[in-house]
Amino acid sequence: MEAIQKKHIKTQFPILDQEVHGKALIYFDNAATSQKPKRVIDAITRYYTEYNSNIHRGAHYLANKATEEYEQARERIANYIGASTQEVNFVRGTTEAVNLVANAWGNLNIHEGDEILVSGLEHHSNMVPWQMLAERSGAKIIIIPVLEDGSLDQAAFKNLLSAQTKLLAVNHVSNALGTINPVKEMISAAHEVGAKVFIDGAQAIPHLSIDVKDLDADFYAFSGHKAYGPTGIGILYGKEELLLAMKPYHGGGEMIKEVRYDGFTVNALPYKFEAGTPNICGAIALGEAIAFMEDVGIDKIAQIEADLLAYATEKISAIDGVKIYGTAADKASVLSFLVEGVHPFDLGILLDKQGVAIRTGHHCCQPLMGHFDIEGTCRASFAVYNTKEEIDLFIKALERALMML
Ligand code: PLP
Repeated sequence: MEAIQKKHIKTQFPILDQEVHGKALIYFDNAATSQKPKRVIDAITRYYTEYNSNIHRGAHYLANKATEEYEQARERIANYIGASTQEVNFVRGTTEAVNLVANAWGNLNIHEGDEILVSGLEHHSNMVPWQMLAERSGAKIIIIPVLEDGSLDQAAFKNLLSAQTKLLAVNHVSNALGTINPVKEMISAAHEVGAKVFIDGAQAIPHLSIDVKDLDADFYAFSGHKAYGPTGIGILYGKEELLLAMKPYHGGGEMIKEVRYDGFTVNALPYKFEAGTPNICGAIALGEAIAFMEDVGIDKIAQIEADLLAYATEKISAIDGVKIYGTAADKASVLSFLVEGVHPFDLGILLDKQGVAIRTGHHCCQPLMGHFDIEGTCRASFAVYNTKEEIDLFIKALERALMML
């Protein structure tokens, strides 16, 4: 039964039904971007073949239909993460969300001498915008140390919190190691000293159930393309009172209520942060991707992926010379590893020749790689459509590659 259901999930992803280099494709690069189910691809096709039009203020059928679908997608996503529609802003992705907050909130609230706590696990996109904010404001970046198992040093984190701490930036799940961070507890500790918290949920949204109110996150961001949706669309959630107090990020159409030659007034939420024609099709398709996850069920997705991760971890651990990076008890879907004496890129190429797609390199986490004194890792990352049979083939391919190297 389980096998039939899993097969059914995989058959919903047309791209997976192909050969590369004459071998059946095994796609284990899901942390970089997931594949898209047919229903998401169909939603994109439907938009462009049936009702492509610019949204809001339209006097005609297509514009009204596009507006309705766009706003329905916002509503679905808001419900899915436990937010109100005012608090759900469509952005290009996680990177844009961090930059938006670092500018529109940071420029008003971060001053010389303030401290921004950034976890040592962060992707460059949840680090560089804060470094840029620190540079222009005179604030200080303080890094929360990472322990040997790839978890954050919670005792050190608590010691770093002080009245100077104005912001905590941390990912919910590490893209490089798979660590699930105890963000609810971290948010609560940061709030005790009056700091706000930005959660990078890019790797959490495809794997975990997210309730932004239960977490009490001030800001929570994710990208659609890592959760079965298209590229170029993502979500920035922000608490309404914070979004209301922020200045707009980009100026232009849609974010204004009224414009005069001598100035403008700002539109209501969520349009205030959606200047210009948005990625209408992307937003609608992201709504469809969320509907896909709802239909499968996030608990079931998490269970399938946890089984895959445990199975792959056990199998790879039996290979001589393999070292796994990221061994925290609480992990999601990521298996990062090195083989003694083997360059990750060489291994990546030899796996590709056997049809297996993994990612190699620093995974946009150069400081974290530096912390472990390595240049990068090999990363296999799993999604709901992957199978244990694929892991068996991956392990065989890995053993064959190692014999060649
Ligand atoms: N944060 C994490 C944890 C990620 O894994 C990624 C992408 O790999 C990002 C942020 C950036 O996402 P995007 O490139 O979609 O903006």
